[in-house]
Amino acid sequence: MKGNFVEKITNMEDDFAKWYTDVVTKAELVDYSSVRGSMIIRPYGFAIWENIKNELDNRIKETGHENVYMPLFIPESLLQKEKDHIEGFAPEVAWVTHGGEEELTERLCVRPTSEVLFGEHYKDIIHSYRDLPKLYNQWANVVRWEKTTRPFLRTLEFLWQEGHTCHETEEDADKETVQMLRVYADICEQILAIPVIKGKKTEKEKFAGARYTYTIESLMHDGKALQSGTSHHLGDHFAKAFGIQFTDRNGTQSYVQQTSWGFTTRIIGAMIMVHGDDRGLVVPPRIAPTQVMIIPIAQHKEGVLDFTYELKKQLQTSFRTGLDASDKKPGWKFNEYEMKGIPVRLEVGPKDIEQKQVVLVRRDTGEKLAVPLDGLEQTIANLLHNIQENLLTKATEHREANTHIARDFDTFKKQANEQKTGFIKAMWCGDRVCEDFIKEETGATSRCMPFEQEKISDKCVCCDKEADALVYWAKAY
Ligand code: AMP
Ligand code: ZN
Repeated sequence: MKGNFVEKITNMEDDFAKWYTDVVTKAELVDYSSVRGSMIIRPYGFAIWENIKNELDNRIKETGHENVYMPLFIPESLLQKEKDHIEGFAPEVAWVTHGGEEELTERLCVRPTSEVLFGEHYKDIIHSYRDLPKLYNQWANVVRWEKTTRPFLRTLEFLWQEGHTCHETEEDADKETVQMLRVYADICEQILAIPVIKGKKTEKEKFAGARYTYTIESLMHDGKALQSGTSHHLGDHFAKAFGIQFTDRNGTQSYVQQTSWGFTTRIIGAMIMVHGDDRGLVVPPRIAPTQVMIIPIAQHKEGVLDFTYELKKQLQTSFRTGLDASDKKPGWKFNEYEMKGIPVRLEVGPKDIEQKQVVLVRRDTGEKLAVPLDGLEQTIANLLHNIQENLLTKATEHREANTHIARDFDTFKKQANEQKTGFIKAMWCGDRVCEDFIKEETGATSRCMPFEQEKISDKCVCCDKEADALVYWAKAY
């Protein structure tokens, strides 16, 4: 029996946007709230976030950072201090104007990011080169008043970590910026099985107030790109605005060099759009809240339920294991846990018990395997490992198949007009005019100048002037 669930979700190829919203709601990741663009993250969605968060938090700590917590509100005068920063964020800021009935003498902004809060604090606690580097991180919620929103991908309020660090030299800050981008890339590839392109943003696309921005970009199933994490070299822009000075090794007063970097709940949207299929979510084993779901077959028969309870006890010392012993039909359960993307389903009925075996079903391929109870832990461990690898391989193949090269504007435009645009690799002269023109004419934006540069032609794809860099372009979320 095919349960009701699968029939109800929209086909990916028919309407990808509708498929996405079907999946996020039917897999019980989120629910809509009464404020536009704000979402309720339900237990299953939050459990996935917690697993991602733990993996990232460990790496943030391993690289020497300490967690802190800054206030939610920023006084208007403080936000005004760095002019590029406020200019960039002003259109997206939510303001608090009243406390109870009383109008505030100074408006408070709800943090869209916390550079200025850290700046003000660093000015007070950094005095000498001995106080450096200062390596802080905070896990928090931030608010950006986005015009169009979509669960996880772009919400008014989102959860993230933001790292904020201070260094003695520009080079130290650059090393940090690259290091944290690598940490993000590692989380995406090793934990979420999402391959990413590492690179630098153009001036137009960089963070407001930064010297430059590094980014990781991933490609979704529908051929659109997603900025999946960013790491900024702030130079001394904020240090000068906030007066964060220290006595350097030569005894002179210097400004610190800073970085900031952020990774958000958006990545759950990437996981959905990279791995999901027409049966619903596919969660990579390394972050799956439940890795193995046991489903008893003919559970009214003597000994079946007892057997599955024992099996759960045994397996949960090695895997995040669930057991659905409810009186719903097995077919309903199959569909439910496929919708939720649980990596492995374990079926066990009276015959299996007799033959000392169980049936394992992989979520990623649908493959069914009857395996002996003997050595089951090892079999499952291998299978989970395999699924994790297969997801990364499949996603990488998809990205490669949807990465195109354009040496002239006609080719570029034609590819951008395809239903599935994908990444377009093309040379660029470095001029903002060309970047703007390409966006206007094709809808594709510059995603990044990859660290791994290639020279696919001598000329800018847009103006034929001498090319400066290879750029990945795409239509993006
Ligand atoms: P930024 O501080 O602007 O560099 O943003 C840090 C990261 O947050 C970006 O790499 C985006 O992936 C992500 N991000 C930006 N805006 C949103 C949003 N409205 N909802 C979720 N994630 C976001
Ligand atoms: Zn050009």
